[in-house]
Amino acid sequence: MIDQTTIDRILDAARIQDVVSEYVTLRKRGVNLLGLCPFHNEKTPSFIVSPAKGICKCFGCGKGGNAVHFIMEVEQLQYYDALKFLAKKYNIEFEERELTDEEKAARNARESLLLVNEFAQKYFSDVLLNHADGKALGLSYFQERGFREDIIRKFQLGFSLDERDAFTRSALKAGYNKEFLLQTGLTLEYDNGAMYDRFRARVMFPVHTLSGKVIAFGGRVMKKDEKSAKYVNSPESEIYHKSNELYGIYFAKQAIVKQERCFLVEGYTDVISMHQSGIENVVSSSGTSLTVGQIRLIHRFTENVTVIYDGDAAGIKASIRGIDMLLEDGLNIKVLLLPDGEDPDSFARKTNASDFIEYVEKNSTDFMRFKTRLLLNDAGNDPIKRAGLVQDIVHSISVIPNAAVRIEYVKECATLLNVDEAMLYHEINKLKRKERDDKAKLNQNREKLPNDQEQDQNYYPEISSSEPVSRFDKEEKNILQHLFRFGNMMVYENETVAQYTATELEKYKIDFENAVYRNFYKEYLLHCEEENFDAKRYFLYHTDKNISQIAVEFLSEKYTLSKVHERIKKLPTDEDRLPELTFRLVHELLNNKKLTQIRSLLLEMKKSAEINDDARVMEITNEISILNNGIKELAKRLGERVIIKI
Ligand SMILES: [Zn+2]
Repeated sequence: MIDQTTIDRILDAARIQDVVSEYVTLRKRGVNLLGLCPFHNEKTPSFIVSPAKGICKCFGCGKGGNAVHFIMEVEQLQYYDALKFLAKKYNIEFEERELTDEEKAARNARESLLLVNEFAQKYFSDVLLNHADGKALGLSYFQERGFREDIIRKFQLGFSLDERDAFTRSALKAGYNKEFLLQTGLTLEYDNGAMYDRFRARVMFPVHTLSGKVIAFGGRVMKKDEKSAKYVNSPESEIYHKSNELYGIYFAKQAIVKQERCFLVEGYTDVISMHQSGIENVVSSSGTSLTVGQIRLIHRFTENVTVIYDGDAAGIKASIRGIDMLLEDGLNIKVLLLPDGEDPDSFARKTNASDFIEYVEKNSTDFMRFKTRLLLNDAGNDPIKRAGLVQDIVHSISVIPNAAVRIEYVKECATLLNVDEAMLYHEINKLKRKERDDKAKLNQNREKLPNDQEQDQNYYPEISSSEPVSRFDKEEKNILQHLFRFGNMMVYENETVAQYTATELEKYKIDFENAVYRNFYKEYLLHCEEENFDAKRYFLYHTDKNISQIAVEFLSEKYTLSKVHERIKKLPTDEDRLPELTFRLVHELLNNKKLTQIRSLLLEMKKSAEINDDARVMEITNEISILNNGIKELAKRLGERVIIKI
């Protein structure tokens, strides 16, 4: 929604060294600047900023990019929010696309609801810290729990008075619209039109979004009282969808990225106590079981989750299903059981951060192992329960997307359950087949989609089939980098590097296997003939992060074509040997594709020979010899071309 001119202006203003030095102390080293990486813990600096190229990169953890990437990572923002962040910082007014009336109305409503919540948060905090009842009841409650004042302020805790409509009256007086008070759920209305407060005589916990806006509240009673619920929460609204929010994420996101781990606890006070003891990478699903939206939210920041349980066995079993969903999303999950009688809140209050971390390291278990042991204990020697247990474990393993991880678990669980690995694979395949059949029934009337074929593959471990990296990654990347650097330069009389490459790849019907490279290539061809097309600028600031990251890699020293260059030492620069390089890069891909074909043909030939299929063996021999001739021919042409051009 920000136009390209504005993006350009923002990017021109946000010089990489200025942006980074707000977060990292930089020293000069040659033409570059060097500092300690903000994204991983290190003692010797490996974070390099190149003002000339407008990029930064850590050679330890690999993170980096242009100014927008850096802000996205360090502030944990989405692309557009990072742009806005920079615009604000460099005082650039930006023009967003004109919104439709509908969009405007929706946006105004949302903003009004957020404003009401912001007012409410300030009101409740003010009551807690300054009102006599707030201090006597609310503040003393928090203090008894050991919360320090800085933590109370940080989490913007508050207190609601024990009056029918104290909050509603203040809000109306301050000019807030009744309609929005009702929509946030802070205010309720009797049939006769009289209004009253949802939260009364409760300590208040505001729920923040990723960017720190208050979208809901949780209110807790201070004394056990059979008449009222322990917690009252804001209802779902235009701005609050419970299943997409995690309590504490706003305060935890940077720590989660830095520690590469997220702790998952149950309640608000668990999160706050752990923060107070110095452990900030912690969130809570607020007492409900995990949802897909919440899992996605965690997954944006890390792949590693440790679920912390107090020792209550019933609670653990109830939550195990939710954890299966974490597995399904490809997260690595550990489980930490606290000592008997402790919950995260009480435990954190007793320990400091380093003791806590030590306890975590010594006592956390891998989730599958934990689950298997737990169920095994439960089943005892009952054969029916044990059979059910195997099915349960098989189901958990079958949802894991990564084949290598599945294989590990099959091994481990086979040992724990004292069953055959092959038997587990058999059960997993059976489950997958059943799922497929069910799906097929559902889709009977639907046409077969191309990627159904992938799912039809047998589930028996085949690590290579699920590896996302293409077999020709290196060759494909070399070609792209070459285009990126020299695409519009002339080679071979009337052709540019881009034109030559496109013609050759088309002639041999070569497509990129790596999907991101393929998109990069397509976009390149689409734009490269445009006047004043600047590939560097176009791709470096591409809105698809995968694509702009490739541009960053191309610009970093580490990925120059050194290997290819070393083979031809006579010529001084890449530009001088442009014709030769262009030819070589394109044909190396072609060559390797042929070699791969030969390899698989050889395998097939072996199998055909074993079953005495002589006709097929002959056919394959011919195919291989044609491919071999092509390779020889190419080698000759490569030689000729080098000679001619020198
Ligand atoms: Zn790093």
